[in-house]
Amino acid sequence: MRVSKIWSSVSQGARKQNEDRDGKHYDQWSAPTPTEEIYVIGAEFTQYELPIGNVTAMAYLRTPDDAMANKYLTTTAQYMEMYRQMLGPYPYTKFALVENFWETGYGMPSFTLLGSQIIRFPFILHSSYPHELLHNWWGNSVYIDFDTGNWAEGLTAYMADHLVAEQRGTGAEYRRSTLQRYTSYVDASTDFPLRDFVGRTDGPTEAVGYGKTSMVFDMLREQVGDENFVRSFQRFYRNNKYAVGTWDDIRTAFEDTTDKDLKPFFEQWYREFLEPGEAPYAQI
Ligand SMILES: [Zn+2]
Repeated sequence: MRVSKIWSSVSQGARKQNEDRDGKHYDQWSAPTPTEEIYVIGAEFTQYELPIGNVTAMAYLRTPDDAMANKYLTTTAQYMEMYRQMLGPYPYTKFALVENFWETGYGMPSFTLLGSQIIRFPFILHSSYPHELLHNWWGNSVYIDFDTGNWAEGLTAYMADHLVAEQRGTGAEYRRSTLQRYTSYVDASTDFPLRDFVGRTDGPTEAVGYGKTSMVFDMLREQVGDENFVRSFQRFYRNNKYAVGTWDDIRTAFEDTTDKDLKPFFEQWYREFLEPGEAPYAQI
């Protein structure tokens, strides 16, 4: 633990310098991999660290809290290992929990910026937190092409929120509430094809961009089986790391892995949306 009454900073990449000298603080962050944007966060942080193999788990808290920091560091290790085995190596050398004074839930390359109240809700450790960690694979190292549809939120929701529920035996409840949200929020006037999803702005965009996309991945997994599903996403990750990935790249990875023509499946869910008079359940 390192308590500081001087401001220090967090950015993406690895920390190369972390030094207090003559009443000033010096930080150096090095990000050798391609990056879409540069983020710098500064505050009077208390810093915590835990090495996990070649990666360092970090916590930057605005108020010292050893017990909470340790929970986050050990949970980082647990999910980092789970996703490394499932998808391939974590793409950065650190992952930091950074406490924000605004109640945000953002995932940046190699760190997450979460609000002071949010990080103190116990359920966040196994809901928003693995979700933001997984964004390092989906969105923060395989980038999203917003012109052809944001696949990353639905996939991250499916492989974090849904997977954690599934591991705890509540996968069916999770899927049912996803379908309920879609049925409640979406009709012919608010539905849109997955290729038009950019980000969540209201109930219908959340129900389609996160919910419907998750269910499409669930159907795809049923169609190809668990092993092919995971191997296809390993391939998609390998082929598109530090580059833009599209729905088409996901389809290609699945086709190359399974040797199946999946164009009809992808076309159907990627382009279709409710026509006037159609009931929402017909689409899911
Ligand atoms: Zn997300």
